[in-house]
Amino acid sequence: MHGKFFLFTLLVSLSLTLCHAPKLLADDGNGEPCLELPIRFHLLSDITMEKAGVQMGMWVTAEDVTDHIVPEMNRIWEPAGIRWVVESVVSEESVDIPNKRTVIENIQESDRTTTTFVSEIESLFPLETRHPAILNVNLFPFLGETRQGFAFLGGGWESGIPNDGGNRAYVGVWTDKPSRGVDPPQQFPLTEALPFDIGSIARTCSHEVGHNLRLGHPDTSTQVVFNRLMGGIQHGYVLIEDEIDSSRAVAMNRLDAIARWDALFPSALLGDVNLDVSVNFLDVSPFVERLMTGTYQTEADIDGDEFVNFADIGPFIDLLSSVEP
Ligand SMILES: [Zn+2]
Repeated sequence: MHGKFFLFTLLVSLSLTLCHAPKLLADDGNGEPCLELPIRFHLLSDITMEKAGVQMGMWVTAEDVTDHIVPEMNRIWEPAGIRWVVESVVSEESVDIPNKRTVIENIQESDRTTTTFVSEIESLFPLETRHPAILNVNLFPFLGETRQGFAFLGGGWESGIPNDGGNRAYVGVWTDKPSRGVDPPQQFPLTEALPFDIGSIARTCSHEVGHNLRLGHPDTSTQVVFNRLMGGIQHGYVLIEDEIDSSRAVAMNRLDAIARWDALFPSALLGDVNLDVSVNFLDVSPFVERLMTGTYQTEADIDGDEFVNFADIGPFIDLLSSVEP
């Protein structure tokens, strides 16, 4: 394929209008507008890892994301006036990289001294479904000993280069951090009742998207406020004033980047639920999955009524039968 055309196709495949355009809500009650930031969640569905006799696969569902993880993230981020909105939940298969089994074993045997795990984990997630402008939170079975998540420090789409990394976070759904790696990994709870004990997938997601909003870890030598979302001495949920101000500034920058991206690529390809830039029978299974879980995705909202429901079935079948076999 011609290079430019390929790039265009890739960009089109990456583009996807948001289910609800990101917007500034009127007021959060404190005079500051509430910022709504969309997230695309990725569930890597086909990898099974093993540690200490425990088989670890992807057990988190799209419903877990929309009904448990994101509401808890919104509780945690509420003091900052930032609200997370699910753009879509994409259940996807891993990329067929060379030496895939070895790479997966390297990740499952890695510990906190390993540095190669970042590129190894990234290489397993398909590029085609990664959104270039909004945040992508990637859920993976197990990230290595005592590691629950990692993320790239982000900003807006400042460099003008899509996929500069700052909009990607990775979170494990199994963890051995509570026992400091002594016990076999366990399913990391979706959420955790207060106060903080071992944390949860929702808290780790909240921490990692904090990095995407350019927050770092507290300096433990000067730390005076404890129980912080961003870690340090005694983990918890507190966001300090400085963190709120700076994360909101970066969130505004991110919204600006998303608006620029939407202006460049305004429309989704209706019916292309698996985002492979064509509408065909491969879209049927993800369409049914969105339908059954009630997960919103622009491509599956064929009748454009802002819901993915049974009313979309007829128009979806019409679309499928109108495309070339
Ligand atoms: Zn961190």
